[in-house]
Amino acid sequence: MTKEEIFAIVEEEDVEFIRLQFTDIFGTLKNIAITASQLEDALENKILFDGSSVKGFAPIEDSDLYLHPDLSTFCIFPWRPQQGKVARFICDIYRADGSIFGADPRAVLLDACKRAKDAGLNIFIEAECEFFLLNTDDSGEISLKVKEKASYFDIGPLDMSENIRRDIVLNLEDMGINIKASHHEIAKAQHEIDFTNQDALSCADAIQTFRMAVKTLAKRHGLSASFMPKPFGNENGSGMHFKILILDKDGNNLLEENKKLSKKARAAIAGILHHACAVSLINNPLVNSYKRLKPGFDAPVYVSWSSNSNRSTLLRITGERNNQIRLELRSPDSATNPYLCIAMLVYSILEGIEKNSALEEAVNENMYSNEITNIRKLPSTLKEAIEEFKNSHFVKEKLGTHIFREYLSAKENEWDEFNNAITDWEIKKYLERY
Ligand code: GLU
Ligand code: MG
Ligand code: MG
Repeated sequence: MTKEEIFAIVEEEDVEFIRLQFTDIFGTLKNIAITASQLEDALENKILFDGSSVKGFAPIEDSDLYLHPDLSTFCIFPWRPQQGKVARFICDIYRADGSIFGADPRAVLLDACKRAKDAGLNIFIEAECEFFLLNTDDSGEISLKVKEKASYFDIGPLDMSENIRRDIVLNLEDMGINIKASHHEIAKAQHEIDFTNQDALSCADAIQTFRMAVKTLAKRHGLSASFMPKPFGNENGSGMHFKILILDKDGNNLLEENKKLSKKARAAIAGILHHACAVSLINNPLVNSYKRLKPGFDAPVYVSWSSNSNRSTLLRITGERNNQIRLELRSPDSATNPYLCIAMLVYSILEGIEKNSALEEAVNENMYSNEITNIRKLPSTLKEAIEEFKNSHFVKEKLGTHIFREYLSAKENEWDEFNNAITDWEIKKYLERY
């Protein structure tokens, strides 16, 4: 879209407000709303904000950051008033001296995609996003009391949120995000929406837009959406699977060779597995994330891959029957920062292919049934993930020292805070008995 086209749409559609959006290093979408009268300034990249007030961003002594709208992300919020409409841009962030602000997670992904392109690889991703739609109690708080009994692929009236899913899908399509499918997931009150295939950057942008839409539309239906990875101890958590397709310069599927997994695909998988523990702090960013990675809940526990439809591994192969081999990465969860998560994925693939890394044997048995001792485990707590992250030269180099340092220190504080908290579990278990 050109600037002229955007001015014309703003005029014709009666757009009054424009949100300039970006994502912080923890994956939270932020925005400033400007009035349409400021559009010209915005498109000349003149709108600035105080980067020191965004956690993990800029120091107070050098805090002016400039928003550069990415014109291709312009869209109107379909759920806002139809007179005096609200539109948005996702923005890149620059410093006052005109250099790219390295702590912008979108910049990290842009850089990763550029490196992939330079190496002759085009990476496409189909994201599968899981989340919970929960009740709101009388005081307006999100509640864990669920009446719904629906499970995998159930239909209404068992599935009590068909209409909200429909609303989310239609709104996203209006915003230019193509949806492949949606369904009730395995856990009660759990849902999934799958995007169609798109380039890595558009996929991360779409995930952020999706989260905003889901939260907003759930509220309109009197519910609260949650992307917390594991709200219920005995139910599945929410993952964010990525179906990955890699094309070469000529548009050929690089993962396939004579209808079989290619050598490059094997090297790419090896790269992903090699860094799986180090990037766990990005893919699974919360104390709660590690409660999802337990046997029996369709989430990975080991650093493993399968050449068939074994969903107990971290990565599996799909699409062989349709002659379109893709990799499904199953470790990231619903709380991940999609820009950093996908950037680390792209870099892991690149490194695997560049080094022609050797791939360990596939595991095609259910990994939850027996005790496995000869395969590396993913970190089982945030603390273990912090240690893996801290010791990874790869992660430090690819994230850049600023994000690496800020992210690590925030996660160390989060772990300390958790350890100092007295949990509901402890109170129930010990308060009366002792
Ligand atoms: N909810 C599962 C997870 O935590 C995945 C279920 C599925 O295979 O779609 O990743
Ligand atoms: Mg699913
Ligand atoms: Mg899946």
